[in-house]
Amino acid sequence: MKKQKTFKLDRRDSVWFHENSSHVNEAYAKDVCDIAILPIGAIEQHGAHAPCGMDTFNAVGIAEKTALKTGAMVLPCPNYGSHPHHHWGMPGTIPLTYETHISLLVDIIRGAAVCGYNKFLILSAHGQVSSTIVAVHKLGIEGYFTLSSTWYDFLRDDKAVLDDYMWHADEAETSVGLYLYPQWIQMDLAEAGGGQGLVDSKWKIAPGQSAKPGMMYHFEGTFALPEADDLDNGVIGDPTKATVEKGELLVEKVVDHYAELLNEIREKYPCGINPLGFRNPSGYRTAHQIQYDSHHDAKGRLKQ
Ligand SMILES: [Zn+2]
Repeated sequence: MKKQKTFKLDRRDSVWFHENSSHVNEAYAKDVCDIAILPIGAIEQHGAHAPCGMDTFNAVGIAEKTALKTGAMVLPCPNYGSHPHHHWGMPGTIPLTYETHISLLVDIIRGAAVCGYNKFLILSAHGQVSSTIVAVHKLGIEGYFTLSSTWYDFLRDDKAVLDDYMWHADEAETSVGLYLYPQWIQMDLAEAGGGQGLVDSKWKIAPGQSAKPGMMYHFEGTFALPEADDLDNGVIGDPTKATVEKGELLVEKVVDHYAELLNEIREKYPCGINPLGFRNPSGYRTAHQIQYDSHHDAKGRLKQ
C-alpha cells in the first residue's frame, strides 16, 4: 500500500477523521494530537421553525470550532441519539434505545483508539445523559479515558446572554442555529411554547442553570408528561427572542471552555499517553487484574 511521503504534521487534510486517509489519522495521533472529539447528534422535532437535525448540527458546529482551536480530531457524528422517556412517540423524533446508543458510543471509541487516539470527549447538544454516562463508565472499565459533556450544561449561561434557561427549540438553540446554519431556520414560523411540569420547577436544575442547594438534575426523574401530549407546538421556551449575536456569544464562549479543557489535557498528557494507563478489553470481569503501562507506576501515577 502506498503511503504519503510528505505528511505535514500540522496540516492534516481536515479536522474530520472521515475526511482524512487512515495514514493521516494515524500519523496525526502519533505525532501531533491524540485527542478525539466525538460530537453526538439526535434526530428530534424542533418546532416548525427549526430542522429535526438541530441538535446534531449544534454538536457538529461546536466540535468543529473546538478542533480548530485545539488540534483535536473530530470523529464523524452519529445522527441518531437516545432520548429521555418523555420524547418517545413524538412525530419527527427518532430515538435509539438506550442499549443501542450505549453500544454505539462504546464501539466508536474502541474503534478510534485502534488508530492511536487516547483521549476522548463526547460532545452532545441534546439531553442524552441517560446513555452517555453509562457509556463513559463502561469505557473507563476498559481503559478508555473519556469525558462526556452536554454543551449547555458545560456553558451554564445562567441567563447571562439569554433571557431564559436553555430549553428546547428555544431562544438558545435557535440563536445557535441562526449563527451556525441560518439556511435551516425560518424565524417567521417561530413561536413560544412550553409544557406542564409534574413537579415544581424550583426542585430541578434547568438546562444551563447553575445548581443551588435542594435541586435535582433535570434528568434525575420522570418529571414530564409525554411531550406528544404535553406540548402544543413542540417548543419549550421562546425562539422569537433568538438572534445571531446571542448565538455567536454562546458558541464562542463554550468553544473557549472546551478549548481550555482540551489544551490542558494535551499539555498534561502528551501524545501516546493514555491518562488511565491501561487497556482492559475484557471489561468488568478482569477489572481487578489491571496492569498499568510503562508510562505509569504500579499505582497508575504518571511517571515524570
Ligand atoms: Zn435541541
